[in-house]
Amino acid sequence: MVIFKNLTQRFFPYGVFRKGKAVYLTFDDGPIPEVTPRLLEILDRYGVKATFFMVGENIDKHPEVFEQVFKAGHSIGNHTYNHLKGWDYSLQDYIDNVTKCQERLEEKGVKYERPLFRPPYGKATLAQRKALHQKGYEIVFWDVLTQDYNPTKTPAFMLRRIQRQTRPGSIINFHDSLKSNERMLEVIPQVIEWLQKEGYELAAL
Ligand SMILES: [Zn+2]
Repeated sequence: MVIFKNLTQRFFPYGVFRKGKAVYLTFDDGPIPEVTPRLLEILDRYGVKATFFMVGENIDKHPEVFEQVFKAGHSIGNHTYNHLKGWDYSLQDYIDNVTKCQERLEEKGVKYERPLFRPPYGKATLAQRKALHQKGYEIVFWDVLTQDYNPTKTPAFMLRRIQRQTRPGSIINFHDSLKSNERMLEVIPQVIEWLQKEGYELAAL
């Protein structure tokens, strides 16, 4: 796995795949009223802080859901304004879209020394990653992909995958989206209970 990590870092420089000793639950694509508030309730019930990589246009459409996440004290990162696949856009267009999302976040009081950014689909060109890194963003990928967006993957599949792949520092990728919705909400309590039983600290990035 060390070799895998080194190769990954070499081909994907300017990005983090794992961090420290805690385990990080991350949720992409919200905030949306159909899913995010129910997820917040579950996280609150277990006293867990997570990280939400938000799409800027969803923040503008659902400011009240944004506020719920923000007030609950979770970390909030940038997932572009329009959920762009980096490979399909010029460097300038991509950076502009990230900046537009970042302006929304900062207007609303989300301010970190190093703003968090996750490229939609995990796809951004080397030049895009380098430019964002130079602008001070921490680019966050993941090492555990639950595939909660895939309707053929059951909660039991997701739990087994997480149990097999999680280690100290793991960053686990979920989505608070309509595609993931019920299956994600069903598995989250099981994931949290398993992680806590195994003695992992659950932290926000
Ligand atoms: Zn996404």
